[in-house]
Amino acid sequence: MSIITLIKALPKAELHLHIEGSLSPILMWNLAQKHRISMPYNSVEEIEQAYQFSDLQSFLDLYYAGADVLRDEDDFYRLMKDYLDACDRDNIVHAEIMFDPQTHTNRGVGFDVFMPGFLRAIRDVQENRGMSVKLIMSFLRHLTEAAAIETLKNAEPWYDNIHAVGLDSSELDHPPEKFERVFSMAREAGFKLVAHAGEEGPPEYIWQAINLLNVDRIDHGVRCQEDAELMSLIKHRKIPLTVCPLSNLKLCVIEDMTEHNIVDLLNAGLMVTVNSDDPTYFGGFLNDNFIALHNALGLTHSQCAQLVKNSFAASFLTDEEKRTWCNAVDKLLEQTGSPV
Ligand SMILES: [Zn+2]
Repeated sequence: MSIITLIKALPKAELHLHIEGSLSPILMWNLAQKHRISMPYNSVEEIEQAYQFSDLQSFLDLYYAGADVLRDEDDFYRLMKDYLDACDRDNIVHAEIMFDPQTHTNRGVGFDVFMPGFLRAIRDVQENRGMSVKLIMSFLRHLTEAAAIETLKNAEPWYDNIHAVGLDSSELDHPPEKFERVFSMAREAGFKLVAHAGEEGPPEYIWQAINLLNVDRIDHGVRCQEDAELMSLIKHRKIPLTVCPLSNLKLCVIEDMTEHNIVDLLNAGLMVTVNSDDPTYFGGFLNDNFIALHNALGLTHSQCAQLVKNSFAASFLTDEEKRTWCNAVDKLLEQTGSPV
């Protein structure tokens, strides 16, 4: 079996995906028409052209403008449903999906609008396809900790539907230490914790996410390689890193995919996983990320299988569910006679 066929056939988990970052140009256009929102673009093609940006901040500017077309419950249903349909195409059987409440509440769209939309789409796929989904509520780090605390409180009626809390948006100048209190409150409320760190920010931010926020998982974390002591800690404590190759390329964290360090991190024994981050903005869903890694770095069958098994091991599934999926990966490799 060719590696491309294997990538497509393997059941996978995706752990680093921003639902607002899966908004397609066509959905953005259709919703703008529906709500009669004027945009600086005259066609879907013009929106597609606008998806060219040079760094994290210019991407975020477009991202927040795009999110503005999401106005009613049905828009959020459509957004979630489109991503879950893409999961079906990529054979993603479990997804842990981030959403940014503040992107919506700050423009007057409340939890009572987006949560029912998200949950209706999730219920649909759980009933029809048996796919499992967990939601991660992310705080915007360029805003204050007080705003994050207010968001945590506003989410209270929805706590049963939210599994973890995260931290995203512009990393530079917004270190994890700024959110120590709200993360402690979230831990006490029973949430798992994740945080973006070490994407554009320095290894020090990863130290802070581990030591001050007590995260269960680091989103990105690729710059841990600059600090041998940090690498060793992440390895021995088996702290997963949710790496996003096409995102790193598009946001110029690396200049060329051949420079990506994910295989080095994998070979060093770190629990790294592959994810798509904001797939419609960064040029590819999960399988595209695996294929890009294979094309640039010659990802082997066994490395591919290990990355996929890591995606289950690093998830918030139960131990039994993790074992079931890892066994399914092994069985597929056996059946296809893939070299391991
Ligand atoms: Zn992200």
